[in-house]
Amino acid sequence: MTDNRVPTVKLLINGEFVESKTNEWRDIINPATQEVLARVPFATADEVNAAVASAQDAFKTWRKTPIGVRARIFLKYQQLIRENMQELAALLTAEQGKTLADAEGDVFRGLEVVEHASAIGNLQMGELANNVANDVDTYTLLQPLGVCAGITPFNFPAMIPLWMFPMAIATGNTFVLKPSEQDPMVTMRLVELALEAGIPKGVLNVVHGGPDVVNGICDHPDIKAVSFVGSTPVGTHVYNRASQAGKRVQCMMGAKNHGVVMPDANKEQTLNNLVGACFGAAGQRCMALSVVVLVGEARNWLPELARRAQLLKVSAGVEPGTDVGPLINRRALERVNGLIQQGVDEGAELVLDGRNPQVDGYENGNFVGPTLFAGVTTDMAIYKEEIFGPVLCVMQADNLDEAIDIVNANPHGNGTAIFTRSGGAAHRFQELIDVGQVGVNVPIPVPVPLFSFSGSRGSKLGDLGPYGKQVIQFYTQTKTVTSRWFDEDEVGSVNTTITLK
Ligand code: NAD
Repeated sequence: MTDNRVPTVKLLINGEFVESKTNEWRDIINPATQEVLARVPFATADEVNAAVASAQDAFKTWRKTPIGVRARIFLKYQQLIRENMQELAALLTAEQGKTLADAEGDVFRGLEVVEHASAIGNLQMGELANNVANDVDTYTLLQPLGVCAGITPFNFPAMIPLWMFPMAIATGNTFVLKPSEQDPMVTMRLVELALEAGIPKGVLNVVHGGPDVVNGICDHPDIKAVSFVGSTPVGTHVYNRASQAGKRVQCMMGAKNHGVVMPDANKEQTLNNLVGACFGAAGQRCMALSVVVLVGEARNWLPELARRAQLLKVSAGVEPGTDVGPLINRRALERVNGLIQQGVDEGAELVLDGRNPQVDGYENGNFVGPTLFAGVTTDMAIYKEEIFGPVLCVMQADNLDEAIDIVNANPHGNGTAIFTRSGGAAHRFQELIDVGQVGVNVPIPVPVPLFSFSGSRGSKLGDLGPYGKQVIQFYTQTKTVTSRWFDEDEVGSVNTTITLK
């Protein structure tokens, strides 16, 4: 039985928010209370095709829209996001669980990409070499590809959609977005604001759903490029399937990020940073520091680290002072609790056990409190799996090189950080570490959009990252023009060589 009082999330096709005709729906559930907030449709194949057709049609005019017109839409869009920040954060907290402050951070990190998109005039510029041969110039045009698509995860339902469609659209493409089916409501509010900012009909479309919709996007002959952010198994599948269908693909995937703590680090700052970066957002960040390697004398900091973790407040994201909110759903709760038990069974020392915390007023929430394991080894499931919960694995190393070896032997390459006051150690780490995003006394080194997100190795498939300069390359085709102009009375001779003179 479906409850008709529960609102439904709409599709966006050709500028209209429409009710899906599907028979398959899923509840969107507040993870702190289990309240059903809305129902999201799993779009039919016809609806996916209609969204792509609308984007294909809109591309004919959007691609020719002057760059200043495109830029001004994103200038207005960033203003609208700012004006609606609190409403967006509240929606996000209700469906995703993170604290209100963290939800604002989620929106804000996306807003920075929108600001960057409004500078598209400076970003989408080609190069020109004058007089490469007699009277010959060579220059490049960065031209949009056509219909692009984005598939996003549950953990940043504002930031990650904003990594994708603003830059794709600012570069002259049209877009089909497939948000996470677990928390699409804040994404849809951002989409409404994008239309209010002036994105024309058909330029941005949204379909909802799960594997069938994602596969439909990967296979669709009229989609030219796919951006994916999510787990490693799904990302690998999307990469293979969409590449096979001839598309450009970039996939940002799972992680296991290590913090390396040198004994000369600023102890206060380091411990606070570690606790925030591991347990914030209940560990559901792809850049969460989920492993700490204590080097040399820093091993003695373990009790203090555990003490600070224990002080964090576990509650609903709307409650003032909350540090750790709920996990996204019941399945995630059972999985994280199961992995904690596996850690115990495999012989790790459970220093802090966050299972089944008492959370007054939210007894049905998907809560796990801060959990800390010591004596973790690389063969344990808690080390090998991305737990995606508030669980910290602590390891030890005798020196920096040993710590670097541990990090480099891990298949993931999303982020890492060193904590030290030694310039020499930081420089050695920066040079030798095989991870795409490196923090020096910065626990979550996600680059601002002047740069690109640059996770590497097992955390990424595809050459170019989202946002920043790299994504201009991703969303455009470089065309090189070599030109020479003759005066009417100029005479020449036949040239059978390939050299330009
Ligand atoms: P997920 O892989 O389960 O889902 C991501 C998207 O793929 C969703 O839109 C979902 O509907 C779709 N999907 C799910 N199963 C599918 C299937 N079998 N076939 C096709 N599509 C499918 O990821 P999630 O749980 O929503 O997000 C958490 C994961 O995302 C973590 O692994 C996290 O590390 C990763 N992540 C990575 C980054 C990064 O930048 N590297 C950023 C955020 C999240």
